[in-house]
Amino acid sequence: MRRMMQAAIYVLVLSFGLFELGGFALYKGEALREIYSEQAGPETTVVSYYKAKLLLAEPATYESVQMETNKPTVIETDLPNNRVESKLPTKSEKIIYLTFDDGPSKNTEQVLQILKQEEVKATFFVLGEQVLKQPEMTKRIIEEGHSIGNHTFNHKYESLYGDFAEFADQVMKTDEAIYRTTGVRTTLFRAPGGTYRNFDQGYFDAMAAAGYHVHDWNVDSGDSRRIGVPAAEIIKTIKGSTLVNKLNVLLHDGSGHSESVKALPAIIKYYKSKGYTFALLTDQIEPIQFGVAKQLKWTRPKVTEKQATNLAKFSEEFSNSVKRAQAEKQAPSLILHRGNHELVLKPDEYRLIKGVIEISKRKLTEWIGGGAELKAEKDMLPLRISLQKLGITITNYVYNDQQREVWISD
Ligand SMILES: [Zn+2]
Repeated sequence: MRRMMQAAIYVLVLSFGLFELGGFALYKGEALREIYSEQAGPETTVVSYYKAKLLLAEPATYESVQMETNKPTVIETDLPNNRVESKLPTKSEKIIYLTFDDGPSKNTEQVLQILKQEEVKATFFVLGEQVLKQPEMTKRIIEEGHSIGNHTFNHKYESLYGDFAEFADQVMKTDEAIYRTTGVRTTLFRAPGGTYRNFDQGYFDAMAAAGYHVHDWNVDSGDSRRIGVPAAEIIKTIKGSTLVNKLNVLLHDGSGHSESVKALPAIIKYYKSKGYTFALLTDQIEPIQFGVAKQLKWTRPKVTEKQATNLAKFSEEFSNSVKRAQAEKQAPSLILHRGNHELVLKPDEYRLIKGVIEISKRKLTEWIGGGAELKAEKDMLPLRISLQKLGITITNYVYNDQQREVWISD
């Protein structure tokens, strides 16, 4: 009889285990589908279109992504946009992308205020170093509906352009700083000093293969020509620049750029009077990119295949883990039943690791009635194995994206 009981428990536990694996596979599929169903909102992650391609497509597509080198991103309009604002402009529309580099700094606050007053959106290419110093300002950029992009960690030309390993390291560090501060995983990037004479083909290729969208500009406000360029001169430069249907305007909100802040209302007024719509840069927008210069400013070793692969691997794994974290946040509660007792575990109170549900020792003790002895060092315990050890039978379970419940006998 005892043996039969044991066998029954074993079968139940085994099937539960298999079910858990099945549940995980389903969950993974859902996570991938998430990429195409994101809605706009302050917490929206800017998911790379390339990334989506890398995740979902066969290796052949990956090859073609790699071969795209520094040609502008190919936009495919059949994909839904990941932000409401990222409506793709038609050819005749006049669109302006205001961009602010080198922040956030104390100047960012006023920039945000002006943008709010004027009801326009912009893109901030931030330095990782500044993100760590100004986390609240960084959060505000996202909360107020603007886009965020990576502008490397410390902006030091010699280290960034002296060796790709250092460059890639700064890209990764800044990605992480932005994500940890705002919850946004960005693939937008702007090279300090622009790509011209700084990037060679190796830099362009490695960044494209890793799914980054490298944006230069076609209007330079001239606000960083030298220290303290007066507002009047910035406005004059802007008004003297050629107007085309799609403008990417380079401005700065780093410290020492209070004159750019002063010039901003007039700049916005000018472009409004010319009939431009202000839009956000997203991973759906074709970047403006300078070509590769014949003569670089730097002498440096070539980007190695290993360096490029490291960056691509980081970027892909980072995007994947962000996706997983987001899917987990939206997961349903796990409801545990014992007789008439019910215990509800919120998504952050249980986890699924490699197909195994884990819950805290405290919660498990609460569920099985407290009488049972749980000798475990770790705080998070695998549900199935722990119950098995206690000789407790799982009588029923439901585990999918909408409903997660487990029943044990009282
Ligand atoms: Zn810069």
